[in-house]
Amino acid sequence: MVRVAIVALQGGVAEHHHMIRLAGERLGVQVEPVLAKKPADLDGADAIIIPGGESTTIGILAKRTGLLDRLREAILGGTPTLGTCAGAIMMAKRLAGTRGEQPILAVMDVEAHRNYFGRQRESFEVDLDIDFLEGPPFRGIFIRAPAFTDFWGSAKPAASIEVNGSRVHVLAVQDAMIATSFHPELTGDTRIHEYLLRLAKA
Ligand code: GLN
Repeated sequence: MVRVAIVALQGGVAEHHHMIRLAGERLGVQVEPVLAKKPADLDGADAIIIPGGESTTIGILAKRTGLLDRLREAILGGTPTLGTCAGAIMMAKRLAGTRGEQPILAVMDVEAHRNYFGRQRESFEVDLDIDFLEGPPFRGIFIRAPAFTDFWGSAKPAASIEVNGSRVHVLAVQDAMIATSFHPELTGDTRIHEYLLRLAKA
């Protein structure tokens, strides 16, 4: 049994709930998704998912409920964590493209640039080669997505796309943390969720 806490304050919660169950079925692992709204909901979590949505809203609500500190403690304690889009922004230690302060977890050695792709390309799809996945390319769905614009420490890029002739990083990994600019929960492809479950079982 793998207990997966899905941060359920705002954003694409139901989609991740569906995908992590499906990933469990495909892997033959029993998954117990828990919708996490308050600190105690993280008790006994083997993995964590932080959905996309609006990072400012998620951050403010998480701080108010005390979930922010509890999440940081669990992630730094080694609980495998997947953050997508706004969830990825929450995980970065440094933000760009944002005005003023917003509450974040600050657990990964990356800079996330909010709304990197700007107005003209607010939403788009593109096939991605992901370093740690086997098989065909992964369909990347980007919605007002961030990009990872700097890496240090032990964080590493694991997928990038070409924009105006240069590579832009859209997936970051560090220890048991995975941060994606795109939305794997909006595809039928469970490989990233399966990867999270494998980390949780390891
Ligand atoms: N633009 C949003 C933010 O900055 C993220 C968008 C998303 O999660 N789809 O928080």
